[in-house]
Amino acid sequence: MVLFVRVAVDQPAAVAASAGTGDGLYDYRWKGGAIEVGRFVLVPFGARKMVGLVVEVNETAMVDAERIRDVIARVDGLSPLSKDWLALTRFAARYYHRPLGEVALPSLPPPLRDAARYALSELLDEDTPQVATLPSIARAIKRAARTAVVKEPAEKPAVELNSMQAAALDAIVTARQSANTQKPILLYGITGSGKTEVYLRAIAEAVAANLQALVLVPEINLTPQLAETFRRGLPGVRIGTLHSGHAAGERLHQWVLAHEGQVDVLLGTRLAVLASLPRLGLIVVDEEHDASYKQQEGLRYSARDLAIVRARQGRDGKSIPVVLASATPSMESWAHVESGRYRKLVLTERAMPEASLPTIRLVPTQRVEALHGLTEPLRAAIVDRIERHEPVLVFHNRRGYAPVLACGACGWLSACPRCSVNAVFHKADRHLHCHHCGWQNRVPRACPACGNADLAAVGRGTQRVEESLASLFPEARVARIDRDSTRRKGAAASLLEAVHVGDLDILVGTQMLAKGHDFRNVTLVCVLDADSALYSHDFRAAERLFSNLMQVAGRAGRGGARSRGAEVLIQTRAPEHPLFAALLAHDFDGFAASQLAERRAAGLPPFSHQAVLRAEAPLAADAIAFLAAARADGIAILEGRHAEHGIELYDPVPMTVARIANVERAQLLIEARSRPPLHAFLDAWLASLQARRSRLRWHVEIDPLDI
Ligand code: ADP
Ligand code: ZN
Ligand code: ZN
Repeated sequence: MVLFVRVAVDQPAAVAASAGTGDGLYDYRWKGGAIEVGRFVLVPFGARKMVGLVVEVNETAMVDAERIRDVIARVDGLSPLSKDWLALTRFAARYYHRPLGEVALPSLPPPLRDAARYALSELLDEDTPQVATLPSIARAIKRAARTAVVKEPAEKPAVELNSMQAAALDAIVTARQSANTQKPILLYGITGSGKTEVYLRAIAEAVAANLQALVLVPEINLTPQLAETFRRGLPGVRIGTLHSGHAAGERLHQWVLAHEGQVDVLLGTRLAVLASLPRLGLIVVDEEHDASYKQQEGLRYSARDLAIVRARQGRDGKSIPVVLASATPSMESWAHVESGRYRKLVLTERAMPEASLPTIRLVPTQRVEALHGLTEPLRAAIVDRIERHEPVLVFHNRRGYAPVLACGACGWLSACPRCSVNAVFHKADRHLHCHHCGWQNRVPRACPACGNADLAAVGRGTQRVEESLASLFPEARVARIDRDSTRRKGAAASLLEAVHVGDLDILVGTQMLAKGHDFRNVTLVCVLDADSALYSHDFRAAERLFSNLMQVAGRAGRGGARSRGAEVLIQTRAPEHPLFAALLAHDFDGFAASQLAERRAAGLPPFSHQAVLRAEAPLAADAIAFLAAARADGIAILEGRHAEHGIELYDPVPMTVARIANVERAQLLIEARSRPPLHAFLDAWLASLQARRSRLRWHVEIDPLDI
């Protein structure tokens, strides 16, 4: 019997376009008997061999049968991917305007898709040459079969849910058991209100019904605490993890466990949203507002948004519930609650008995003397906590020692030679580092321009704050948590653990400090400088700052009775800024209302929908010229439409950081009043851009977060 299969392979849109397949699917002939949708195959692609995914099986050829090549082999050993999974990747491909293969295959662990590296072609079975097994798959399967339920520590004594938690849990469980399609649930609870406890029990209920749960977290390396909470809170439940920190073999192992239904709960970062979970029955997105759910390269998807789509598509034609948890929801989710598309469940009090929210105070810095950047009230509060053996958190959202080195004599600045930004002075290794392209160089002994030996470190990063704190409080144990101090695996966890057990007096850090840690003994959080974000041009800057400050503030006062008198001190030169009024009152609702009112008036998301077209070239003029021509194409397409489209194409402009690694970047913003015309327009427009066959690199991003 001869069958024809349509196969998705990981090839960019440009290749698909030149092959004449707009959807990036390729046809092959299969003579090896039965074959199902969702199977992997090894196929010839040009001169190469690639792993592809069968998405259609037909009895007749869809294209000229003469031109069709044969499948080399079917990859055996794994269950096929489900229809639901394929439906999800198809949606993502359509929504983000990418060929299916560019979405589906990169979401798989590398040993599954990388035929060349894993020598799949040499593994053809001698007896049945149409079937191949990948040794890494075989190993992963064997290992999966051996994986026993670890008796993974002692059960945590169950706390009794308070009435708000109980009501929220009841609503989620009822939604899961209901036969009807359910709205996405926003679990909106202040920091420490026991959101984790609620969704943990909802997961336990789903697992008891023999279903799998998917839990997305922003940063898995920083949440060993969460994994531990899961293991303790869900005894006997098989918990898997999926994130980019795993080595290839481990990632394959974890993926296979999830795919073969051998884990009940999959805890992962954004990439886990595309994991294969055949018995999926519940999705949780923790800290749903977090920007790290947005992938910033390749397929620029939002894991939060795909989680919502995945829940709606559900399993076997029936939707499943999705719970978005946050103390500071995104404006997108908040607006969906207001329009009635999402359902809001609210927790308004801290869950630990006698725990209360910290008092937030502003410390104005105009006309006030500061020592090493710390005003007297901060210094006094820190001394007080050191004496009481309560660790202090100092939040400073800037890495390095100083943002720039400067020459007072001639005005030279330490610019990155490859980017349009300054290189940051890192004192720890006495190097200048570019945080954009990775360039680094030893700190010059004298000004490269005029020879002046006296170069000044201007401004303050976490390394400098750490040094200042050590000199102001010589008896204190001070440490720093940021991307530089946590490169070693486990470093972040051990720093956080040191706070928990009281081995540290002061921990200074970037927003790594803020993400969900349940510190019981912290009663003081200091913020040295929140001002730079107040005057940003980015319309989301206020939302991000408010949420960051609420989250760090939320680390204080979580420890029951001990939390009385917990404080958050924020230094600022703009104490009268309206954002602070809402923050001091812990009034997220008020803040969200004013933000949404502003955005509605300005026609900004979530009241409009955006996409950007970006181009990169060695010369800025070339990038701009490409975008200008693209814009002209786009306008011609829009003018050809008679229906009211509500789409606006802005002028091309250089990006805020225009040059990175000697590449000039420019972008063009597309704004639309509603989505369907936007996506229809993009389909036509992107096809016309492909047809230009420009050699320059370009891509489109849907729902960009940074513009
Ligand atoms: P959130 O996720 O909302 O920030 P957590 O779920 O981390 O809050 O809960 C904060 C703390 O309160 C945790 O230490 C948790 O064990 C505790 N907690 C949660 N629910 C209860 C409860 N009903 N009674 C007592 N303590 C609780
Ligand atoms: Zn100089
Ligand atoms: Zn650079």
